[in-house]
Amino acid sequence: MDLAHERYEELERHIRQANPAADTVRIRAAFEYANEHHGPQLRKSGEPYITHPLAVAEIINELDLDQDSIIAALLHDCIEDTDSTHDDIARLFGSQVADLVEGVTKLTRMQYTSREDEQMENLRKMFMAMAKDVRVILIKLCDRLHNMRTLQYQSGAKQKEKALETMEVYAPIAHRLGMQKLKWELEDLALCYLDPVGFQDVEKALDELTTENSEFLERMQKQIEERLNEEGVRCTVYGRLKHLYSIYRKMYAQNKTIREIFDIYAFRVMVEDIPTCYNVLGCIHDMFKPVLGRFKDYIGTPKPNGYQSLHTTVIGREGIPFEVQIRTWQMHQTAEYGVAAHWKYKQGMANEKLGTEREFEWVRKLLESQQDTDPDEFVRTLRVDMFSDEVFVFTPNGDVKSLPAGATPIDFAYSIHSAIGNSMTGARVNGRIVTFETPLKNGDIVEIITSKSARGPSRDWMKICKSNEARNKIRQWFKKERREENIATGRAMFETELKHAGLSIAAITATPDLLDTLLRRVRFGALDELYAAIGYGGMSAQKAVGRMKEEMTRLGRLERQRAEAEALRTASASGEAIYPAGKGTQAKPRHSENGIIVEDLDNCMVKFSKCCTPVPGDPVVGFITKGYGVSIHRQDCPNADPARRKPEEAGRWVKVAWADAGDATFRTSLEISAKDRDGLTLDVAMALSAQKAKLSNISARSQPDGYAMINLELSVKDKGELTSLVNKLSTVPGVFLVRRAGG
Ligand code: MN
Repeated sequence: MDLAHERYEELERHIRQANPAADTVRIRAAFEYANEHHGPQLRKSGEPYITHPLAVAEIINELDLDQDSIIAALLHDCIEDTDSTHDDIARLFGSQVADLVEGVTKLTRMQYTSREDEQMENLRKMFMAMAKDVRVILIKLCDRLHNMRTLQYQSGAKQKEKALETMEVYAPIAHRLGMQKLKWELEDLALCYLDPVGFQDVEKALDELTTENSEFLERMQKQIEERLNEEGVRCTVYGRLKHLYSIYRKMYAQNKTIREIFDIYAFRVMVEDIPTCYNVLGCIHDMFKPVLGRFKDYIGTPKPNGYQSLHTTVIGREGIPFEVQIRTWQMHQTAEYGVAAHWKYKQGMANEKLGTEREFEWVRKLLESQQDTDPDEFVRTLRVDMFSDEVFVFTPNGDVKSLPAGATPIDFAYSIHSAIGNSMTGARVNGRIVTFETPLKNGDIVEIITSKSARGPSRDWMKICKSNEARNKIRQWFKKERREENIATGRAMFETELKHAGLSIAAITATPDLLDTLLRRVRFGALDELYAAIGYGGMSAQKAVGRMKEEMTRLGRLERQRAEAEALRTASASGEAIYPAGKGTQAKPRHSENGIIVEDLDNCMVKFSKCCTPVPGDPVVGFITKGYGVSIHRQDCPNADPARRKPEEAGRWVKVAWADAGDATFRTSLEISAKDRDGLTLDVAMALSAQKAKLSNISARSQPDGYAMINLELSVKDKGELTSLVNKLSTVPGVFLVRRAGG
């Protein structure tokens, strides 16, 4: 048997151990397929290439991932390195497996050379967004782990590049997915190539402590076990040195010697349930002296990646500090395997209904998926769709840009600089010329072609682009860059529209005051600004002319009223008493459409004020408003109180009188205070109905103190009718006050 088959048989044996029901016929077929396709390819180590996919499948199997993942691991380099296609794999092993392999291939093709720090987070996000299925990431992580384990065969430059990528992209992703064990191994391997000297220093320092270390670990482990057994606690205690990279970081970042580092040693106590965790903590603190400020309860407050444990640092009798982590078995699984623990639980508890919603709450949080995913659906597929509203693309220099999903080359160009967008004449995606509306995909390399003689953006671009940034910048361009042109176009549009409305430019620019007023009405400070806005589409010419015309009509009416009031005042000041001047000279009330006569002026616009709602018979007074004609108040209305009138408005208060209003009715309102009781509102309504009152609105509110307030709106012919209604309402049981509003 050749090496490949030997290794495969070993893998199959391990798979059977983990899962006796595994479909080894399918798995073997995948191995044979990959073996045949990789053929005589060799790794740098000189081994047949197939040993690499086999090793990755071994790691996947250790994580207890599902069978499709194992098969995909065996096939993971087939699309990239052989003539095999997605379709071939789909036909033989199903579309699920083919999608996984294709996903891994995409991630493999991505280049992650070292970049600025702020770029790294986008890069990691892009990595995860591209994967779509979390299993793709897991396979890619295992692939990287095996490549790191065999990195010694690569050239020095390649080693540095891969190690850096591992440290900056892969290890943080493993961390984010809660896969501590994998993360540690990746970090230690990467460090070994990134800082070989530092790595060896730490290794040497640890080596010198070896005897000491192992004796200490053994002794402490035994002590803790004995004590917990005495307490009747079922537990597993495990002591170890912390992983090299974490010690390295402390030694170099905090500039400490190995003996000064607190937690070079770590013990884990695994127990059945959460209450026991706290019991164990009590025992540990009883046995050893706890270091102040080092206790952390990650059970009560789990870490963002779902990690749970109690952490404490204590000092043993020898004066050596060490950390103790206390957790349940389940927490331990999650801590070691993160997302992958999902499959472990699934296999271990096949017959139980999993509390998956709760268990995977953290996965959901972790993946920042704010979508309305149904929890079951989520756990079933564990899709990595957390960045579905973003798309990540590269600039030609390898910077990563995050854009809204569906973004186009236009969005990309403006995200770099408005000048790039404004001078854009074409775009290339992955080296190929594309149209401006082409949606960008994760991992695309986008290049914008610009020209100094570009004519600038087109208005259509605002419809094509997806980001507000691009849209605003395009609008900005039309506003500024083409101001002269906009003004000319806008002016032409405006003047044409004026002509349609029967106005001329001379009419609106007659006086500076008039022009100012008209421009204020359309919210502009100068005519050019208005033209520019019309030119770039910020306001329609029709709207501007419409508003100005309205304003001119209003001003004309106001001017007429002022002139008439002035004429009247001059006349009355000269002693020509008009109406209702009293002293027996009262003229015969004349008919008026409004039911009111304003100092002998016919048909001026009149409105009855809402504050006091006067009706015929009330003593009234008028006020010439700006633009709404004469407002009629009751003389006892607080708003008409002579003591409160502004001196500068004195000329605008005018005498008015009621005229014969024919059958007209006048709207007014009443307010009733009453003791609250059942049926009160109904009785009020009945009383009004009995009087044939024209009620238009009734609203009642209970007051907290057992009283009620009822507001009525009704129409009456005159004060006489109103008075009799008030009297009638006063007789309704419980009512103690009926009064007119505003009076
Ligand atoms: Mn590979």
